[in-house]
Amino acid sequence: MPVPAPYGAGMTHRPKRLAVLGQPISHSRSPAIHTAALAELGLAGEWSYEAIEVAPEDFDERVRAMPGEEFVGANVTVPHKLAALAIADDASEAARAIGAANTLTFADGRIAADNTDATGLLDALPDSPSGTRALVLGAGGSARAVVWALVDAGADVSIWNRTPEKAEALAGELGASALQAVDVGDFGLLVNATTVGMGASTQVSSDLKSLPVAADALDERHQLVDLAYGAVETELVRAARARGARVVDGLEVLVRQGAASLRIWTGLDPPIEVMRRAVREDTWQAKTHPDTDT
Ligand code: NAP
Repeated sequence: MPVPAPYGAGMTHRPKRLAVLGQPISHSRSPAIHTAALAELGLAGEWSYEAIEVAPEDFDERVRAMPGEEFVGANVTVPHKLAALAIADDASEAARAIGAANTLTFADGRIAADNTDATGLLDALPDSPSGTRALVLGAGGSARAVVWALVDAGADVSIWNRTPEKAEALAGELGASALQAVDVGDFGLLVNATTVGMGASTQVSSDLKSLPVAADALDERHQLVDLAYGAVETELVRAARARGARVVDGLEVLVRQGAASLRIWTGLDPPIEVMRRAVREDTWQAKTHPDTDT
């Protein structure tokens, strides 16, 4: 995949627009994260980031129009991640292997696709997962990125899913194992990539019982990544933290995937701390409707 020229190379004063495309999209945190980051980088006058609601049947036409409207890149979220890969002229190894893209770059008349959900997960982990036994809960779209990232980074990955056939298919495809019964003691790293816990606003989720990991089963021997997030901590995150587990929450992963996208578009180091503050302020303000993962 071609690497975009660093910011400043051949710079003009034309606006550079960025966006997140999805449906629904109105509660996306990405505009808050990226607007804060662009301001911190001194790019606020020239670069901008907006949320655009796009129906699946309009996706290709919308994307093809973007380069002519000053857009240089876009994040893509549910339900367009497969279509984003399909429309691209070039795709990164991660996007091809995962089979989905969340980042598009428009340059030189071409569309390049990447998947920063995978990079974002790895960047959010304080230590390399190489050699770690990892359990991924879920076998949907985000689990695909998580499993690929962890296997690629050298972890020994097992997958549990409510519908076991999907865990088996994903494990077979990406070099992991599928499990039907879980002993948490076997694992150093757990990643919740199910929708369980998502949407917690002022109330915690009550469907944790459908996971094979009790909220109080994690302790200081474990690292937990919970992709789900809301205006309050998920039950899994709160219980794991209280018992001494090292925890990475869904907002941190969200910030890290956004940061990786911003680096692709601008060639600059993203201001992670500013992005963290922006997503947390935006999330506490939203309180309700934490209904999108980008
Ligand atoms: P998805 O493709 O719809 O997959 C949903 C997964 O959740 C499936 O494995 C499904 O199992 C499982 N599931 C749903 N309800 C369940 C229940 N009651 N008990 C057990 N398992 C259940 O969704 P996705 O795109 O992978 O997203 C998964 C979660 O990650 C969402 O909450 C999303 O918002 C979040 N996410 C966060 C980030 C981030 O940056 N923080 C990024 C991406 C996604 P079945 O196969 O049996 O239906």
